Amino acid sequence: MFAEVIIDQDVKAIDKTFDYRKPENLDLKVGMRVFVPFGKRIVQGYVVELKDKTEYDESKVKNIISAIEDFSAIKGEMLEVMRFMTKKNHLTMASTLRLFLPSQMREGKVREIFETFYSLKEKDFIPAKNAKKQIEIVDFLKEHGKTSSSVLGEKFGYGAVKALYEKGILEKDKEKIERKPFVENLADKKVELNLMQKKAIAEIGGTEVFVLHGVTGSGKTEVYMHLIERELKKGKNAILLVPEISLTPQIMASFKARFGDFVALLHSGLSAGERFDEWKRIFAGEARIVIGARSAIFAPIENLGIIIIDEEHEQSYVSESNPRYYTHDIAKFRASFNHCPLVLGSATPSVESYQKAVAGEYKLIELPTRANGRELPAIQIVDMIGEIRRGNIGIFSAQLLADLGQVVQNKKQAMIFINRRGYSSFMRCRDCGYIAKCSDCDVSLVYHREDNRLKCHYCGKQYKVLTRCPNCKGENIKYGAVGTQQVVAKLKELFPNVNILRMDNDTTSTKNAHQKILSEFKNSLPGILVGTQMIAKGHDFENVVLVGIVDADQSLFQADYRSTERTFQLITQVSGRAGRSKDEGKVVLQTYVPRHYVYKFASNYDYKGFFRKEANIRQTACFPPFSRIIRLLFSDNNENYVREMLKVCYTEIEQLKSVYGDQILYLDAMKSPIKRIQNKFRYQILMRVKLEKADEIEEKVFEIANKTSKNGVFLEINPSNMS
Ligand code: ADP
Ligand code: ZN
Repeated sequence: MFAEVIIDQDVKAIDKTFDYRKPENLDLKVGMRVFVPFGKRIVQGYVVELKDKTEYDESKVKNIISAIEDFSAIKGEMLEVMRFMTKKNHLTMASTLRLFLPSQMREGKVREIFETFYSLKEKDFIPAKNAKKQIEIVDFLKEHGKTSSSVLGEKFGYGAVKALYEKGILEKDKEKIERKPFVENLADKKVELNLMQKKAIAEIGGTEVFVLHGVTGSGKTEVYMHLIERELKKGKNAILLVPEISLTPQIMASFKARFGDFVALLHSGLSAGERFDEWKRIFAGEARIVIGARSAIFAPIENLGIIIIDEEHEQSYVSESNPRYYTHDIAKFRASFNHCPLVLGSATPSVESYQKAVAGEYKLIELPTRANGRELPAIQIVDMIGEIRRGNIGIFSAQLLADLGQVVQNKKQAMIFINRRGYSSFMRCRDCGYIAKCSDCDVSLVYHREDNRLKCHYCGKQYKVLTRCPNCKGENIKYGAVGTQQVVAKLKELFPNVNILRMDNDTTSTKNAHQKILSEFKNSLPGILVGTQMIAKGHDFENVVLVGIVDADQSLFQADYRSTERTFQLITQVSGRAGRSKDEGKVVLQTYVPRHYVYKFASNYDYKGFFRKEANIRQTACFPPFSRIIRLLFSDNNENYVREMLKVCYTEIEQLKSVYGDQILYLDAMKSPIKRIQNKFRYQILMRVKLEKADEIEEKVFEIANKTSKNGVFLEINPSNMS
């Protein structure tokens, strides 16, 4: 018998299967991990196929040395997922398989932990009268039965325990300890489903993909829980994906409260050991609901009855570094493998997903009102150019200041949201609101400090820095964004007696810092929480009556074709924080371009209106989802080598034009906006192609890239980060 083995090394040249002979006495199964001789070394590998014959010279085929575990660590379904992903995303098999296993397992570091337990062997033993500790131990064991060594040792001293064991009075055995992630105990909150929720649950089923469009607070979580419960009753299992940042303790506790130990959690807060143990519980079928961030889609759970992706529009579902993948693709693949539905839930579905619902490829389900009957908070748009004209050049508008004053007076709470994405910044005229844009691409130009230039991240075109506004001829042109620190300082000046808290990357770098800030805020009345994207979702504070969005435009003028969509999503999410309880909420949104369509639609919570407008614009401009952007990024320490790779590759890709003609909307080669990272020079080829032949062209481009440049090339589809 022979086995096809993938070597566990992320090297393109050896990313194929190698034949090995199965030793007689080894019970080998597909999906097992094995040790094999490879060259002069012994390496780990995965068995992906068993067969009777090999096409190689049998005398030269080497033996498998041994199996690493006595079970198939990679289950059949996951082997199929691997095949799907390597093809779809041009990944190596080894790097893909690594996604499916806890890293500790591959490194052989963390295994089960065992603890020693003692029990009484000689029940009639009576210790000597002066051996007080021994008497106590025997009495304790008579009463409590089997007890762990650490408990006995701490209570009575390890010496006494050891003495009794050596006399043969105690016997010991080892038991496996499971490390379980800590989750707060919470009572299950049973609610009566409303009609819309019932309807949604009734409609979801079969093997379709559903877009569940529910406004913030519409009770989507309750719908998820019922869907999962329904599948559990049928004997099936479930995966629920949630963005890392929304995996709040409350969410985890409420699922534990309802489903108990059936729930397994996978998130970045777990220790390596906890992660490994949760993985094992899933693998063994003990845990039947996997809740986790993006990578939980690789959980070794079988017999799926439903897969749910919450906040499906979130960018974090895209893995932008190697191995590159899009969670939705894998979820779709697994759903269809298991013949079960996939639910994409969001208050602001991505344009891409919603377009598919409009086109009939997905099914649309709506929850148009808040579950508790509360209105969504009113959003007031404040024109910051008007403020400047009235002589207010500060961070806060008169309106926001007045409303903050009211909150403080009423001993309520406010959240101030600072919109910050990435590090880039755009140029803006403070007099008229003009933003510098690329003449070819209609996206904002990004200011690059290192060479004092404005650059388009889509086509690479460079522009001189403006000193005078082309629109109003004013000279009040600025770049840069307001920071959280600046806002906090200003607020402290204005409201010296109010507790003002800050939540951003700087203040949350330590473990549990998040929780600390949030619980301090909870107890601050009045209180103001200033923060970035981190405060935008998941939090449910009943005393928050005001949300201020300081500079809504920050995400609007990013050099990204999705920036308007992102802005809409952010506003909707941030607004959802206000007025969740009995007090009416309000949102003050400050902008320099108050007439931009995104603000009109967002302030009316008109997702559909926004979608129609946005889809229309993208269709006209031929941007995704109505086209596909392909980016090839080349990088290497040797600049000449990168340039050479780029040139050879570009010349070949250019020839595709003669075959595909106007299917190729745009093609160019250039330096990347960030020319060098970690001493590696970066160049790129950018393409925009029509959808019709996009798969074909992508495949060709990949082949060319692979052929002309062995390593150091990275292919991305519809990237959001073009730096
Ligand atoms: P979403 O995820 O859609 O933003 P949530 O699931 O967080 O909304 O629900 C918002 C609030 O409404 C929660 O406190 C939840 O317990 C409550 N809720 C959900 N369904 C109902 C219902 N049918 N009746 C009353 N309250 C509900
Ligand atoms: Zn451009």
